[in-house]
Formats: sequence, structure tokens, C-alpha cells
Amino acid sequence: MSNASPQPVRVLTVHGLKVEVTWKSVKRLSLTVTSSSRIRVSCPSRTREGEVIAFVTSREGWIQAALERQSSRSADTRSLLANGDTQRIWGVSTPLVLEPGTSTRARLAGNTLVIYVTSSTYGNDETAVQARRAALRALLAEELRSALPDVVEKCEAVVGRHASLWRVRYMTSRWGSCNTRTGAITINSALATESPRCLEGVVTHELCHLWDRRHDARFHSLMDDFFPDWREARAELRANPPLLR
Ligand SMILES: [Zn+2]
Repeated sequence: MSNASPQPVRVLTVHGLKVEVTWKSVKRLSLTVTSSSRIRVSCPSRTREGEVIAFVTSREGWIQAALERQSSRSADTRSLLANGDTQRIWGVSTPLVLEPGTSTRARLAGNTLVIYVTSSTYGNDETAVQARRAALRALLAEELRSALPDVVEKCEAVVGRHASLWRVRYMTSRWGSCNTRTGAITINSALATESPRCLEGVVTHELCHLWDRRHDARFHSLMDDFFPDWREARAELRANPPLLR
């Protein structure tokens, strides 16, 4: 039994989740997770607390997934690419300096990553950080494109298959992909943040899909033959997400 008539806004705790509930003139219950990870429910003015709790409970899986997405996004924003930060390039922690320039672009100068910035891309506001990340992504793509031909030549000889086409693209969800119908292989340019053996591992992995499209026992025994180090390379990739979105 409810001990008071519903107030316009109240915070309820449902299975450890803090939920901000607003009663207003809407037709149905709705739920959002904000960019600052707050859970908000709005509901028709006569809705009882028990109904709100049942509603939130029925969507707990969705809420958890949304919160996880938010926390990986906020981990992402910690990589501001500010002066004095470090950035992994080919698996090596590389100091970053920002220098004034006429456009925003990145280059490697010896063991230093230089990002040239303009007055509008120097600060830590979202637009400036995004511009610096775009510059870094362009550099990584350049690095990957220049490293790829030698790696491909070596891995194709080992695996005994050839891709019909090699593409380099920045991807947020996978390191590589293979179209087994056309034989085209796409490699994530963010691999230029990881040590060179990771690129070799991914190239070998995608080439092995030209023998076996699934990740079954046969596939893994091909990987064992052609790239015995594949478990270590995979562990390295899992430990170091590129964080460049
Ligand atoms: Zn695969």
C-alpha cells in the first residue's frame, strides 16, 4: 500500500539501481539512461510505485547494457590527447606533444607523437578532442597502410591463401574481417596502436578464414600451425582497446 499520493519526482532504488521517477501527463511508462548514467523513468500521473518497480525490473538487462555502454564511453573520453599524454603506437607508449600549426594533423617525429593544432583544436572541449582523434586516426591509417604489404606477403606465404583485396579502415567493433565469398579482407587501422605481432595475428586470422569460415577446432588448429602465438596476441588486443572514437 502506498503511504502517500505520488509526488511529481522521486528517486526509487530498484535492485540497487537509483531511478529518478517523474509523474506527468504522459500515456505510458518510458525509460532512459542519460549520458551521465542517470536512470530516468517518466510515467502517467496515476501510476503506482509498484508498477514503476515492475517496469524497471522488466528492463534491467537493457539498463545494465546501457550503463556499460556509458562507462566504456566515459573511459573513452579520458583519452583527451592533451599535451604531455602518452599514446600507444605499435605497442610502444609514445609521448604526445601539441604544437601550433595551420591545420590539425598528426605525425611521428622520432619517438614523439606530434599533433599540430590550431587555436580551435588546442583545448579539451569535445570538438577539439574529436579533431585531435581524427588526426591521430589518419596517422594510424597511414602507418598501417605502409606496414601492411610486408606483413601480407609474409602471412600469405605461411597460410597459403591470398586475399582478393586488402582494405584498411578504422572500425570500433572488430580488428579485422574477411568476406569469404569475395575473398576481400579488411584490417582495422587502429591495429597501429598495438605491437606488430597483433597485426600479424589478425592478418593470419583473416587469411585462415579463406580455409575455414568458422571459429571451430579446425580453424584453431590452423592458427596453431601458422601463428602459434595467437593466444598472446589476442590477450594483448583485449587488454588494449584503441579508445579513439
Ligand atoms: Zn574470425
